[in-house]
Amino acid sequence: MKLDPTVMRTMCKEDYRVLAAVELGMKTHDLVPAQLCMQIAKLRHGGANKVMSGLLRDKLLSHDRSKGYDGYRLTNSGYDILALRNLFQRGVVAAIGDKIGIGKESDVYIAANKEGKQLVLKIHRLGRTSFRAVRNKRDYLMKGKDNQATSWLFMSRLSALKEFAFMKALHDVGYPTPAPLAHSRHIVAMSLVRGSPLYQVRARNEVSVQQAESIYEQSVTLAARLARHGLVHCDLNEFNLMVDLSGIQNKLNPSEDVGGHYVRSSGAVVRGPGALSHHAVLGRDTGPDGTSLVDGTGEVVTEEPVAATERLANGDPVPIVTLIDFPQMVSTKHPNAKELYERDVECLIKFFSNKLNCVSGDGDDDMREGWRWEDVAPEAGGGGGGGGGKGGGDAAKDAEGRLDGELRASGFSEDSSRRDLELYYFDKYGKVEEGEEGGEGEEEEEGGGDEDEDEDEDEDEDEDEEEEEEAPDLVETDASATFQDL
Ligand code: ADP
Ligand code: MG
Repeated sequence: MKLDPTVMRTMCKEDYRVLAAVELGMKTHDLVPAQLCMQIAKLRHGGANKVMSGLLRDKLLSHDRSKGYDGYRLTNSGYDILALRNLFQRGVVAAIGDKIGIGKESDVYIAANKEGKQLVLKIHRLGRTSFRAVRNKRDYLMKGKDNQATSWLFMSRLSALKEFAFMKALHDVGYPTPAPLAHSRHIVAMSLVRGSPLYQVRARNEVSVQQAESIYEQSVTLAARLARHGLVHCDLNEFNLMVDLSGIQNKLNPSEDVGGHYVRSSGAVVRGPGALSHHAVLGRDTGPDGTSLVDGTGEVVTEEPVAATERLANGDPVPIVTLIDFPQMVSTKHPNAKELYERDVECLIKFFSNKLNCVSGDGDDDMREGWRWEDVAPEAGGGGGGGGGKGGGDAAKDAEGRLDGELRASGFSEDSSRRDLELYYFDKYGKVEEGEEGGEGEEEEEGGGDEDEDEDEDEDEDEDEEEEEEAPDLVETDASATFQDL
């Protein structure tokens, strides 16, 4: 799905107010009556038609008369714009660049903040692929209403919220994850991770056997450490491990990109590997006044990279492995946790033995020593507390103990919307099948995704007024929400 933030340059306060009103209305209405939109948005009747038709023209709203009344829904784009606006107003993001990743459940974009430093936006898009369990339980999921489109928006939001909460909890105790910066609705903002997903690194044949061994060791150690903390990743494979073979670290924050790349107020990247890409600047202000990007050629680098990297015995830099993609994680108390954990570890062993030839064959049982469920899971007497043992990681940092209870990871939750999300992910990641690759290479184009459509009504030109007053953010503003806040 294409994200076009340029409409934001001409949007005014009333436009955002109406979008937020439709969003709020959709919590209770599949199709939000025009009158209710006006009421929530507190728009004078005269101005309303013009605002509505502008939003329809830009495909931020869709219009439907099938229920015998004039009704509106937010489109995916409308939801994107609301979330972006919120992140923009909070100073998290000031420009959007190229799409850098397409997962099964997301679109991932490079972006930049108002200092011009690049970051990443992961836009959760649930409902894009097929998922039988959720569909079979449709009545339950949709709570008896025919509001499938609505549910995907809110499920995407829930997924982003969960991802943010998990990333933050893990990052806080020293896991190598991207730095979680903020979230709004279905978008998570995080630091840009240097390097590439492991499957790409492997495809480019760049990695030495020694480096591959190190990546393997770090990866299974992560799986075990998570289990000691009471968590299973459930999609731990070459698509969700980012690898930086240069081994160059950021002194202040090892998981954050080194030095960063900066964007000029024109939107062009001026430094770093993304130097050819272009960023669409959000908002209308381009002056150096805090609402716009600054020229990144200046001395804005705050984090010094460590020049001397750690080296392996053969002299190669120790690769830096970063774990990404958290919304499907579950607690080790989940009824299927053992199988899910074992699948994660087996997937890794298979990849490293078959594709990178750096560990012995996947039938070799010795190599599982120290990483068995019994060795690591608190439920199986495997310790807990994250520290100690072969996969223990940094015991001092892990002294906090279990994280799953704190996060109310799946398997704990009694809350129905969280269970919906669990059901969704369980259908996608939960089935442990023989010969499964666990990958995300293929994408099924089926089902649930609502699409932007409808373009009736007359067209009006927007006046280009300057409106920087706070637009109502009726649903969500809290940057530090945790999973408990759902
Ligand atoms: P999905 O849940 O859809 O699989 P992921 O979180 O795995 O989404 O992200 C998809 C792709 O986007 C990744 O494989 C990676 O290439 C890229 N990506 C995600 N997060 C980052 C990040 N913080 N820095 C750099 N690239 C990222
Ligand atoms: Mg992924």
